[in-house]
Amino acid sequence: LLCRKLDDKQVVTDYFNTTGFERWRRIYSDSEQVNRVQRDIRLGHAETVHKVLGMLDAASVDWATHTVLDVGCGVGSLAIPIAQRNPRYLLACDISTAMTTEARTRAEQLLTADQFARCAFRTADLESIPETERFDTVCCIDVLIHYPTAQAADMIDHLSKIARQRLILSFAPRTLYYVLLKRIGDFFPGPSKATRAYLHSEKEIRETLERNGWRVQSSAFTATRFYFSKVLEAIR
Ligand code: SAM
Repeated sequence: LLCRKLDDKQVVTDYFNTTGFERWRRIYSDSEQVNRVQRDIRLGHAETVHKVLGMLDAASVDWATHTVLDVGCGVGSLAIPIAQRNPRYLLACDISTAMTTEARTRAEQLLTADQFARCAFRTADLESIPETERFDTVCCIDVLIHYPTAQAADMIDHLSKIARQRLILSFAPRTLYYVLLKRIGDFFPGPSKATRAYLHSEKEIRETLERNGWRVQSSAFTATRFYFSKVLEAIR
């Protein structure tokens, strides 16, 4: 089982360092030319980011003392606007070096020197972040889709030990409609087929959160033609 788990992660790492990096770097960028499907995914994802920022803004966080961890940060689509809210410290972590490098480059361009100085970028598997390294808020957006449910639960267990006040995560919900759509192969078309997309039962994700002492305070769902993501904001 451990081998299988490491193998899954190796596939994800390789993909997001190569073809996946190129594909998602373009999708997660307003200036790049993309096709119709990719534009649809770009808009859906931007909406998810917007909703997560809305949750943080509604939480009246005291940013001057607040620390944030964004795991699976990608090119920094969420981490950078969070950094612009001037948290005390932000760690953006991704399993792909290509992603953390791109996130750091974009952050340096978009943030003030002071904001950038309070950010760190680390190439690491989220499950390797030590339990002693704790953050007020932990975000894990559009990452669990790359892992089967049992593994996603292990990840939530681990992140629960690292997050003090708030855990915001997103996943692709397993509803009958999306199961059918997935079977037809009508979403995640193109090279992204190189990784598998896993749907998760919202009930199971909520149970995993509750088992870890969380209470789901708010949720949001975004669906476009080719993108769908459910966000849960859990607090203690
Ligand atoms: N969260 C970002 C966003 O919403 O803009 C990026 C989402 S992208 C679809 C998924 C990202 O998760 C990729 O950059 C990938 O390298 C990263 N990732 C996948 N498995 C991971 C793991 N075990 N630990 C850390 N990052 C991981």
